[in-house]
Formats: sequence, C-alpha cells, structure tokens
Amino acid sequence: SDSMVADESGLRWRNDFATLPPSFFTRLQPTPLPDPYWVGRSDAAAQQLGLDPDWFASAEALEVLTGNALLPGMDPLASVYSGHQFGVWAGQLGDGRAIMLGQTETGYEMQLKGCGMTPYSRMGDGRAVLRSSIREFLCSEAMHSLGIPTTRALCVTGSDARVRREEIETAAVVTRTAPSFIRFGHFEHFWANDRLDELRALADFVIDRFYPECRLTERFGCNAYAAFLEAVSERTAALMAQWQAVGFCHGVMNTDNMSILGLTIDYGPFQFLDGFNPRHICNHSDTGGRYAYNQQPNVAYWNLYCLGQGLLPLIGDKEVAVAALQSYQTVFPREFEGRMRAKLGLPDAQDSDRQLIEGLLTVLLKEQTDWTIFWRRLSQHRAGANVQTVRDLFVDPTGIDAWLVSFSARHASVSPALAADLMCKSNPKFVLRNHLGQQAIESAQRKDNAGVATLLTLLETPFEEHPGFDDYAGFPPDWASSIEISCSS
Ligand code: AMP
Ligand code: MG
Ligand code: MG
Repeated sequence: SDSMVADESGLRWRNDFATLPPSFFTRLQPTPLPDPYWVGRSDAAAQQLGLDPDWFASAEALEVLTGNALLPGMDPLASVYSGHQFGVWAGQLGDGRAIMLGQTETGYEMQLKGCGMTPYSRMGDGRAVLRSSIREFLCSEAMHSLGIPTTRALCVTGSDARVRREEIETAAVVTRTAPSFIRFGHFEHFWANDRLDELRALADFVIDRFYPECRLTERFGCNAYAAFLEAVSERTAALMAQWQAVGFCHGVMNTDNMSILGLTIDYGPFQFLDGFNPRHICNHSDTGGRYAYNQQPNVAYWNLYCLGQGLLPLIGDKEVAVAALQSYQTVFPREFEGRMRAKLGLPDAQDSDRQLIEGLLTVLLKEQTDWTIFWRRLSQHRAGANVQTVRDLFVDPTGIDAWLVSFSARHASVSPALAADLMCKSNPKFVLRNHLGQQAIESAQRKDNAGVATLLTLLETPFEEHPGFDDYAGFPPDWASSIEISCSS
C-alpha cells in the first residue's frame, strides 16, 4: 500500500505466511554474528528478486543478510513442521536454523539459514558451517541455471565465529529465496497433531497462492484437495525426472526436505554422479542406501504417500487420495523419457526410444562411464567431433560401438543442426562435482573467495563452452572419492 515506505533495498517487505494461525510459527529475531564478511554473491538471484544492486553491495546488506539488522516490514519467524526421516516418523522438527525474514512484493520469501537457535532447534546450535553454506549457495544457483526447479541462493556471508561439528569450524549464513519454503512435513505436522482446521488453512493457503487451478475442479464436483495432491505428485515426478537425467543425488530425501512446490530444497550431502553407478550413495550417513541415486524416484513416491496420508482428512476418501497419487506413475516415466530424448538430441518420440535409452544405460553401467563427460562428448560428436572422443571413454568399446550404430540409425531422420543444438542445451559441460566445491571451500576457508566466484560463473551458464576452463569439466581427481559428506553441516 502507499503508506509503506520503500527502503533502499528497492523492495517492500511483508509476510503472508505470518497471516496463518499462530501455531504455524514463532516470531523471533535472528541471532547476530560478529564481523560478517562476503563469501559469495549471486547478482542473478538479486535481479530475480528485484533487489537494488547498490543496496546489495552495501555494508547494510551485509548486516541484514547475516541476520544482524532488519529492514522495515520484515516480520521474521521460524515455522514448525514434522516429517519422516529415513522412512521413520520423526515427530516435530521445524526451522531449527532457518528464519524467514519476510516476503518481497515480487513474490519471493527470503530465509536466512544458520542465523541462530529457534524453538525448533532441538539438539542443534542453529548455525551452519562455511563449507555446507558454500555448497548450498553454489548448487542452488547451478540447479536454477540447469533449468531445474529449486530454491535459490542470494548470497553466503561468513564470520570468524566458531561452530563445533566433528571439528571446530566457522559460521556462515546462506540467504535463500523461494516463492514458498513449505514442505510435505508442514502438512504431516498438522495431520499428526489432529489439527484439522490448521491443516485446511495450510492447504487453502498453498492452493490459493500456488495451485489456483485446483479450485476449478471443485466447480465440477471434484475435491480440490485431491486435485492439489495430484498436482504436487506431477510436479514432484517432473522434478525427479530432471534429477535423474542430470545425475543429481539429493542425499536426504526425508519428507521434511520435500518442497510442496516441487522445488529442490535443503542442499546437504548432495552429489552429481561422476561415473554412472545407479546404486551410488552420496550421503555418508545413509548406510542402507535408502537415498541412493536409483532409489530417488521411488522414494519421492513414498514421500507423496505420506503427504497423501496427511491430506486424507481433507480429501475424505482413501481411494480418491490413492487415485490422485497414481499420476506419478505415468508422469515420471514420460518426463524421464522426454529428458533422455532431449539428451539424445531427439526432438520427437518413437516407440523404439525406450530401448535406445535402456541400451545406453546398460553400456554406461558396465564401466561406470562418467555421466556428464559422456553426454557432453556425445553432443559434440553429434555436432561434428570425431567419434573417437566418445569411444575413448571405454576400455572395451564393443558395447558403445554397437549402441552408436543404433544411435546413428535413429538420427538418420533428424536434422543434424537441430539435434546438436538440442544436445548441447540438454547436456551441461559444468556441474558442481564434489571436488570442485571442495577446492572452492578450502580457498574460502583461507579467506580467498575467488574460487567460489569462478565456479558460480561457470555454473550460471553450464551449457556454454567457457574456453580455458576445461579443468572444471574434467574427470574427478583420485582424491575426490575420499571426500565424505554427511548430514552434519
Ligand atoms: P536436514 O535434514 O539437514 O534438513 O535437517 C533436519 C532438521 O534438523 C531440520 O529441522 C533442521 O532445521 C534441523 N537442524 C539441522 N541442523 C541444525 C542445527 N545446526 N541447528 C538446529 N537445527 C538443525
Ligand atoms: Mg506461535
Ligand atoms: Mg531440512
């Protein structure tokens, strides 16, 4: 409204989430961190928000984005949620170290992660360490640039304040933005506590803002909450297809880490595949492999069942709820095949494509060929490079040779220029491999942030060649396999 004063951030702040009943959240202030300094900054994320560039570069922004100061209109709060962790009901969780400052008029919530204890911190200290904050910052922006739905990250700030993990580390804050940070676990929370009025208020809040089309079905006598469950299932299925196609392993797909908007959220022990090992486990704490790469689509479906259980009191009929989840089973394979076809440079579908895809996966599995490098070299081959660059990736090229024959045959009717273009836009040259993040982190721990900035630049345009930066697109070094990343961050 006109009475609100625009501050120098160039944005006006409010907080719609704070209009939900009081049991959804606790209002509180971030805990200040001494002498913050910049670690990483995303001008692209700032631009998406509509943030004034001069303000973003200011000393005031550094304080606000570390949680040491607030802007007028901000209404900071931590929300409560529950969830299933590693397949087991974990009860109440909540924003244990994230505080939502408010929401911009442009429609983004801003959240500081690592800015101190909340009533939901349980045994935690409310802080985040520099290494995990850099990983979340870089990967959020990388995923966005890969065209994969995700929360975004505006910046990372650091401080010399000490944080105890396995060893003593220093604290950092990541500023995240998203249209909403609501998780499956928010719904499970009010279901588990038998708070049906609040459950309905939450569902209405999300539907009105993000799934208004679900109200249309209501006019035809269909349940809006069932339509909502179906829509979330479809977005989640589409997200899983993108993760699988790019080789992204999340690592902690608990229901509290599942976005109701189908965004990638809560970057922890994630990893991009190096070699193609479908059973790859990126989370050192996931001894059972529940969240292995090839389990992700199934786990997402399992998580949707938990959401469906939470929505059941609103849907009313169990069969209707189960039916709403069924679309996952058609959307995931359709989306996955669509993504794989794009990687293969095929603009149109043919029945034989599934065979072509499966045949290739079998070949790549045999020697655990590097996922990203294989696809990029295949793209360049389609653009005219000698096929030997692809064959070189195999000790025994028999399998790939046979597959390349069927690949060429399938391409006989496809325009080479169109195919090459599609492939180069679908197969990134640069992904955030663990060792790349690790090198940037080690420099940043010595207060040299140039590595973070360089990686951000490459990951912001991952489909471009970036001549001179081939080292960032190469095979992982031997030491990369000894990096152990767990939930402790
Ligand atoms: P995660 O699986 O890492 O997303 O975290 C699971 C739960 O633990 C969430 O409720 C987090 O807010 C909470 N949590 C994780 N680390 C901390 C910490 N250092 N301090 C407080 N809460 C934390
Ligand atoms: Mg409250
Ligand atoms: Mg989480």
